[in-house]
Amino acid sequence: MMSVPFVVVSDFDGTITERDLVVALTTRFNPANQTVVDQINARQLHLKEGLEILFQTLPSADRSTYESFLRNEAIFRTGFHRFERLLEDARIPFYIVSNGLDFMLNAVLGENSPHAVRMANQARFDGEVIQIGWQYPCTPPCPGGCGLCKHAVVEELRRRYQAPVVFIGDGVTDFNGALHADTVFARSRLADFLEQAGKPYIPFDSFDDIMTQLFVPVEGGAS
Ligand SMILES: [Mg+2]
Ligand SMILES: [Zn+2]
Repeated sequence: MMSVPFVVVSDFDGTITERDLVVALTTRFNPANQTVVDQINARQLHLKEGLEILFQTLPSADRSTYESFLRNEAIFRTGFHRFERLLEDARIPFYIVSNGLDFMLNAVLGENSPHAVRMANQARFDGEVIQIGWQYPCTPPCPGGCGLCKHAVVEELRRRYQAPVVFIGDGVTDFNGALHADTVFARSRLADFLEQAGKPYIPFDSFDDIMTQLFVPVEGGAS
């Protein structure tokens, strides 16, 4: 395998998009879900369990309504498309790793994006309500309950590429992965968690901020 300087892992909801679309979708179609969201954010409920409860309130039959809602609702964080192109040009592996569902990423990003590898939970629409297929289970030392285990993904990518992992995230779904990454860009609730945990991170608002940090201009080059 070609050697790479680093691998980038980014969260999707609230990181690549301005808003968390799992929260937007599940509370829009069932406002009572807000209580479950609050419990997840307070880490009173495991992610896996919480996501199952949230999506079980959504009838499978309304899939196309959800997809239109997601397309209308999604606003990309500033610089995301430039960031993705830059990683592609520099041949840096880029993984979008989401505890949301695959159909949500596909609705917003389109069926195929040029560069990024998408990793998400699988939405199943063959029952009365949306069921989740868990594709990336927890492995030790993770105590479990992640749904999609970002910690396991970070470790696996570091092994596969023999390179440091840069992690970008914003929320409770990222805490575990961020703790095991080599460099972390954090905002919002994730930044607060890392502050409390004493894990160093770089704050960011846009993907332009991240590019500035990751691609430092070479000194002594042409002015
Ligand atoms: Mg997020
Ligand atoms: Zn886990």
